Amino acid sequence: MARGMAAWVAVTLVSTAAAWDAHGHRMITYLALDGLPAEMPAFLREADTRHRIAYQSNEADRWRGTRHPVMGHENNQDHYLDVELLDQFGLTLDSLPRLRNEYLRALIIAKHEHPDAIDPYDPAKDPDRSKEWPGAAPYSIMEHWVKLQSALQTWRILEKLDDPRRRHQQEQARSNVIYHMGMLSHIVGDLAQPLHTTRHFNGWDGPNPEGYTTAKTFHAYIDGGCIEHHKLTYADLKPLYRSRARVNPRDPWPDTLEYLRQSNTHVIPLYRMEKAGELTGPRGRELLCERLCTAADTLRAYYVAAWRSSGPNLKAEQDFVRYNNFKPDLLPGGDAPAAAADESAAEPAGDGAEGDSGNDGDGAQPGGPRGAAPGAGQGQATP
Ligand SMILES: [Zn+2]
Repeated sequence: MARGMAAWVAVTLVSTAAAWDAHGHRMITYLALDGLPAEMPAFLREADTRHRIAYQSNEADRWRGTRHPVMGHENNQDHYLDVELLDQFGLTLDSLPRLRNEYLRALIIAKHEHPDAIDPYDPAKDPDRSKEWPGAAPYSIMEHWVKLQSALQTWRILEKLDDPRRRHQQEQARSNVIYHMGMLSHIVGDLAQPLHTTRHFNGWDGPNPEGYTTAKTFHAYIDGGCIEHHKLTYADLKPLYRSRARVNPRDPWPDTLEYLRQSNTHVIPLYRMEKAGELTGPRGRELLCERLCTAADTLRAYYVAAWRSSGPNLKAEQDFVRYNNFKPDLLPGGDAPAAAADESAAEPAGDGAEGDSGNDGDGAQPGGPRGAAPGAGQGQATP
């Protein structure tokens, strides 16, 4: 238990030192929800729903807090894409395959055929085996988006059926919408942070004729320290927010790449501002506000696009009923019967059962920019 408590304390200290990690993602989410048009479901305007989506917007970082290599391997790459590294693999943003595994195949083939063209990779410094490739954020956005679209369609079908025996299904469908809105929010928010689009994600990497910072604290500073310095709040951002972004409901992929491309254009100005000491002044504040509001506006556009492409046709409704194959008469009804006294109920919690996961609060993200714990000595600290 003592070890678990120590881990919990360490996580708490780290997570409170950051702001964009949790506070920034929440602000982005509330602003996006504010901008939803009246055509979208009324429950999305309820305070409780809004708080739940905002909470959920940090789930992908809480996953990183588990520090489990399976989780890191699956999840870490979804938070970024280092645009400059695509070139080594013979790819550009314009030529990226649309599907994740086709992208991975292109990377692997390029590395196999031209190993010398690609930066060396040391698996010994990467226990998650997640840093060999340039990142997968646009795929993550598309995948979360289409899951949201599916969740909205199911919710619409169940609302239309309006079957009292399916109340629990309606309730779960609503929760699924909330879940996927939160998950999408996280990755869209991440990509507005320019350092999530570049190999220079945590201090300048490689030849550095301009003398930009190489500090391994830079990423965390932009994520959190700089926002904290300017004490940015939802109320500060609200008057700056504009609904302008468009995401094509039929095909969000080009809009996703354009969003990533735009964010990447801020990388060099960000390093220049750091070098000139401007990040703590009005220009730094302006940049952060612009990035957070752009994230919120783009997120709103993804939400609207998911809604507008989720209207079920008659076949979708019929398919839902058919494949849901709901036979309440053949299922248990009401509350579960009283639990039998079995062994598991009496089993004491093991030592360290609480706290070890580092998963307790919003933005529990003990990792550096790419999951390596600060000072953990696991090579490159990466977001
Ligand atoms: Zn993230």
